[in-house]
Amino acid sequence: MKRKQVIGNWKMNGDLAANRRLLDELLPSLAALDGVELAVCPPFPYLAQVAALLEGSGVALGAQNLNVAAKGAFTGEVSAGMLGELGCRYVLVGHSERRSLYGECDETVAEKFAVALRAGLVPVLCVGETLAQRRQGRTEALVSAQLQAVLRRSGIEGLAAGVIAYEPVWAIGNGETASPEQAQAVHRHIRDLLAQHDPARGVATPILYGGSVKADNAAALFAQPDIDGGLIGGASLEAAAFAAICQAA
Ligand code: PGA
Repeated sequence: MKRKQVIGNWKMNGDLAANRRLLDELLPSLAALDGVELAVCPPFPYLAQVAALLEGSGVALGAQNLNVAAKGAFTGEVSAGMLGELGCRYVLVGHSERRSLYGECDETVAEKFAVALRAGLVPVLCVGETLAQRRQGRTEALVSAQLQAVLRRSGIEGLAAGVIAYEPVWAIGNGETASPEQAQAVHRHIRDLLAQHDPARGVATPILYGGSVKADNAAALFAQPDIDGGLIGGASLEAAAFAAICQAA
């Protein structure tokens, strides 16, 4: 069976003291967890602190964004090489907040994905529809278009070397989770699309669900045949909740 994965996306939260408290409480409760790949993605300024705190824990480090340039006059930006040097294994690309608040289009996201891969990072490609798009019946077309942009640039080998996170925008940060059946249907669609390009990679690529995953709904979501784990926002900031979600995986 494929290993489940749970990735915590701290977004723009935390501080030096809170990060330490969270991980001091969290890591002992994850120590006995076998067979689940875990990671947390703190804000850039805390990557070094969190890398040190995670040492020896088996929990990997991830970042929330990257710039496609290697270096240069890009004030305020961070390169893939810098993330790698700080010990990141993962980097989120195309989170819906980056798409909606910072204008990242499918092409930008695809370029970030490719740059992350080339730098030896595992990009976590976030895809998902808004409520309006779902109501218009456009969920599958929209998610397909988001994936096709990455396929055009990186091919199926590239896409399958990353992680896909299906995150319906209407379910992020508001307690409104997609039902396990709703999530499974889109995950199935994503897997079918991958399988059209390469059946083996279609099966092997991890597809995580994100959007108000909590301790009490994680098990039902993770039990779906095409849901390989979760990308967790709010609940990843609470040690007990995140530990329970990891245990459900
Ligand atoms: P949420 O966020 O778990 O708080 O809904 C998920 C995400 O945005 O990755």
